[in-house]
This record gives sequence, structure tokens and C-alpha cells, in this order.
Amino acid sequence: MPNPDTLDCLVIGGGPAGLTASIYLARFRRRFELIDAGYSRARLIPMSHNHAGFPEGIRGPDLLALMRAQAQKYGAQITTGSVDSLEAIAGGFVVNANGRCIETKTVLMATGVVDVEPDLPDLKNAIQRGLIRHCGICDGYEIIGHRVGVLGVGSGGLHEALFLRTYTDDVTLLSHGQPLDLSDSDLQLAKSAGVKLVSEVVTAVSVEGDKIQSISLGGRCLPFDSLYSAMGSTARSNILVKLATKLDHHGCIVTDKHQRTSTENLFAAGDVVRSLDQISVAMGEAAIASTAIHNCLRGAMRSLEGASSDLSLSPAYANGRL
Ligand SMILES: Cc1cc2nc3c(=O)[nH]c(=O)nc-3n(C[C@H](O)[C@H](O)[C@H](O)COP(=O)(O)OP(=O)(O)OC[C@H]3O[C@@H](n4cnc5c(N)ncnc54)[C@H](O)[C@@H]3O)c2cc1C
Repeated sequence: MPNPDTLDCLVIGGGPAGLTASIYLARFRRRFELIDAGYSRARLIPMSHNHAGFPEGIRGPDLLALMRAQAQKYGAQITTGSVDSLEAIAGGFVVNANGRCIETKTVLMATGVVDVEPDLPDLKNAIQRGLIRHCGICDGYEIIGHRVGVLGVGSGGLHEALFLRTYTDDVTLLSHGQPLDLSDSDLQLAKSAGVKLVSEVVTAVSVEGDKIQSISLGGRCLPFDSLYSAMGSTARSNILVKLATKLDHHGCIVTDKHQRTSTENLFAAGDVVRSLDQISVAMGEAAIASTAIHNCLRGAMRSLEGASSDLSLSPAYANGRL
């Protein structure tokens, strides 16, 4: 006997990906709920200048509030809480969230990533004030001509430093006390791009008003205007362990072009999927995922099980109309 309370979809995560999916699912008149623990990376954005449609920029918390209001306008149910576990059952999943047991036919993972942060005092405040930055693609334009420090090790740190050379000649890679861990070819790349390398521990960041003044390293003090943290991130995909959903070597969820995962009826969108970690990408993937979910539920797409990697599509989908 089917459970009459079974949801069409449970969306896990209320950042740009989860909220976009909620707008779409609500407008598809689906029975769904979004559960969000409230730690979207977007809430830390002091002002985004690269998100299309906002010529004067938009603060991350304002964007989240607008998207939430838009989803709720169409009746989306948004609950604060955390999904603790996910179990596959015939025709869907049983989800445990804060002691509640929820049955759902499909799940959208929009859980994002957590940045690995340097151990610096008052870090969250410094990020929200734009003193410590995380993404050259997002805000490199705002540091044109600055003296820039990049905290990071290995090729990840170096690649952020090299990217920032788009905007300034003065870039230093600071390894924060760990070995720089650069291969010979990385060292050559750094040298030819004029990226300076420093491996002493950063002990203090001195701030005056809304500007970084200097960074203390052991016994000396180096002047910088901007500091980037490029220490990597961890995908929030651990609740999928029991389902054995396919992850890549970074722990990011692997999806097909309709955002379907290797687990039947489980979809994923946003930073938790291996792609460019940007708001517009999270929104785009969520639009694709929620449309695929709706089409699966109305029987217009084959389930993942047994389908080839280039999945069978309804004619309307194949024509690009859906
Ligand atoms: C400082 C900073 C500046 C940035 N600036 C820009 C910018 O200018 N332009 C741009 O395009 N991008 C920017 N980004 C990147 C952007 O914030 C992310 O790409 C975007 O937030 C990803 O959206 P998402 O929905 O995938 O994940 P998130 O926004 O991280 O949301 C994931 C949500 O899922 C919730 N969650 C996780 N696990 C669970 C669970 N088990 N149960 C319930 N909820 C859960 C989390 O609490 C969180 O609320 C910036 C990021 C940072 C950190």
C-alpha cells in the first residue's frame, strides 16, 4: 500500500542550487520539501559582482533571501534542519532528518562543499568583510593592481596564484608553514609567471579599517592589500556512504548530463558536483536536475537503471523544449 505522505522529491540544501530547484519544482506543482542546515557558502559573499543581472552587485545573503521568497511565493516548503541519513527503498528513499522519517520518490543533493580554512583569528568576520577571499574567478577583478597573498599548498594553491596574475603582477604564494609541495614543473611555472614563494607560518594578519595592511610571518612582516585562501574544499557528500553513490577522487558526486547520479532516483546539483563552483553553475545544474526529476516522475524519462549513459529522452526533451 503506497504511503500517501510520500514526497515527489526531497531537496537537501538551501543554497543557490537547492533554492533554484525549489522554484522549479514548485512551479511544476510537485509535492516536495527542502531541508537546509543554513551554511550556504553564498551567505559569506560580501558582494558578488560577477553574478549576472545585478549591475551594482548583490550580497550573498540578499540573493539567498530573494530566492527563498520566490520559492515560497509558489508554495515551497522550506524547513531548517539537517538530513542525517538516506536509505534506498523500493520506489525511492527513507530519509532521517532531525528525528523525522520522510519517504520520498526522489532526492536532490544540493549540499555544497565546506572550504578548508586557514587557522586565523576572527576568520568568518574577515571573509564576510571581503578581507579574505576565496575565488579569483568571483572577485579577481576587484583586486586589480593589488599586492596579493595566496594561502595554499601544492598545485591547487599555485594554480590560484597563477590565475590571479590575470589581475596583478604582485602575487605571493604563502604555504602557511607547510612544505610548499610543488613539483619541478610547478616551480618552473611559478618562476616564469613571477609568483613569489614563501613557506613561513602566517602568525597574524593586520587589518586597518576595511583593508589588510600586512601579514606577519615568523619574524618579518610583508605588506599585502588582499589575501586569498586557496586551501581546497570538502564535498558534503558523506550521507551517501551507505548508498555507495559514485563519487570522484575529491568526494564530489558524479552525474550525467541530466544531473542523475549512479543511484537510481538520486540527483545532484551545485558545488557538491564536480564542476565550476559558481552561483550560476549551481543554478543551471539545479534547473536541469529539477526538470529531469519532474520528467522522471511523469514517466517521460526512463529511470537510470538499465539506461545507457546517453540516456533515453522524451521527444520534447530531445528537441530542447524541456
Ligand atoms: C567568500 C565566497 C565568495 C564567493 N563569491 C562568489 C561570487 O561572487 N560569485 C559566484 O558565482 N560564486 C561565489 N562563491 C561561490 C558560491 O557561493 C557557491 O558556488 C554557491 O554557494 C554554491 O551553491 P550550492 O547551492 O551548491 O551550495 P551552498 O550554497 O554551499 O549550499 C549548500 C547548503 O546545503 C546545506 N546542507 C549541507 N548538508 C546538509 C544536510 N545533510 N542537511 C541539510 N542541509 C545541508 C548547507 O548547510 C548549505 O546551506 C563564493 C564563495 C565564497 C565562500
